[in-house]
Amino acid sequence: MQNLTILGSTGSVGANTLDVVERHPDRFRVVALTAHTRAATLLAQCRTHRPRYAVIAHPDAAEALATGLRDEGIATEVLCGADALERVASLAEVDTVMAAIVGIAGLKSTIAAARAGKKLLLANKEALVTAGEVLMHAARVGGATILPIDSEHNAVFQALPRTFAGELAAVGVRRILLTASGGPFRLTPSAELELVTPDAACAHPNWRMGRKISVDSATMMNKGLEVIEARWLFNAEPRQIEVVIHPQSVVHSLVEYIDGSVIAQLGNPDMRTPIAHALAYPDRIDAGVDFLDLARIGALHFQAPDTVRFPCLRLAYEALEQGGRAPAVLNAANEVAVERFLAGAIRFTEIAQLIEAVLSRCASGHVLTLDDVLAADEAARACAQGWLAERNHAAGNARASTALLSSVTRTGTRS
Ligand code: NAD
Ligand code: MG
Repeated sequence: MQNLTILGSTGSVGANTLDVVERHPDRFRVVALTAHTRAATLLAQCRTHRPRYAVIAHPDAAEALATGLRDEGIATEVLCGADALERVASLAEVDTVMAAIVGIAGLKSTIAAARAGKKLLLANKEALVTAGEVLMHAARVGGATILPIDSEHNAVFQALPRTFAGELAAVGVRRILLTASGGPFRLTPSAELELVTPDAACAHPNWRMGRKISVDSATMMNKGLEVIEARWLFNAEPRQIEVVIHPQSVVHSLVEYIDGSVIAQLGNPDMRTPIAHALAYPDRIDAGVDFLDLARIGALHFQAPDTVRFPCLRLAYEALEQGGRAPAVLNAANEVAVERFLAGAIRFTEIAQLIEAVLSRCASGHVLTLDDVLAADEAARACAQGWLAERNHAAGNARASTALLSSVTRTGTRS
């Protein structure tokens, strides 16, 4: 029996994890579930899985959850706040931790699971992007095994030999090829990108995911974050990681060997496949997915990415090359930009502009510890707020001069 903590159980990856877990009550037992604010969803999950602990960030939501559990006679203990996430990630009775919180909010609990030597199923890519070295070191020292959940990295993991121990050259690997669907705007002309809406950006053609990663897919920052993620997971040089656009999302990624062989992992785009793979590893279990029908799909297409229309991919490579604070700064600026875009405060094309400005202003400096990462994150968020204030000021001035100009023109017309 494998005892599980699922961090971010109410999200898209979290719900998919519970779907797989429910199919195998003989293998998995849920010890802890966590959510940010959605008490009703967490209560429903507690009803089904009867975990020992349920963690929720907000005190009001914790109160509502505790009342609901009491009314239904469910003996789950409610914990509240960010520290409780670290606690349930490192409980002695837990074997496996699914890290599926979105953003840097998931960093500390992911590191706690690594330090505690858990089998760490890593969906929270922002943890590796911001703190790659710190997290990999914590896993080594703590004796944790990291299994990638991101479909591309899970595919690479499956295409590498079992003997891979952190040296790509030692197992004859030349390159890692990460596939990218290209997102909902793969064919959208540059001029139209400025006007796309949050809902259009979240309408991914192949995957149903949370809104943050959906916007990241639309800007292609998701692929940029995944390049950085691959650097740490597989100890790859940036030049060894290549991105190829593959609109069907059937080939999830590939590994090229020095003898010219290329090994890929294929499947329908359904996160339950990598989740089931990692949960059961090294066994294989039923994931509830539809099986691949290649004859029905017919053709698979590949093309090079366009970093002019999608500058975020270039920015991520640059941050990776720069190293130090730069990836954490890239991530923080992206989190702020995506949140502002989803709130309707900035345009889609301003996401990359904000990130580029913040990278140029505050990306230098070293990162040795978790505190360094958190300081870089905080500085980048402050810098992003500065950029937004300048932008709003400039937009206000532009509006004022347009109004002035039109009043002058009207006056001129009258006279
Ligand atoms: P989501 O938005 O659907 O869910 C996020 C989860 O994190 C929720 O349970 C939410 O309650 C929790 N959360 C959010 N902010 C929090 C905070 N401040 N404190 C505590 N908990 C918080 O996101 P998702 O799509 O499931 O993605 C989760 C992670 O997995 C992301 O890092 C994403 O990049 C990665 N990922 C997702 C997919 C996918 O198919 N959805 C695929 C690959 C990788
Ligand atoms: Mg992915």
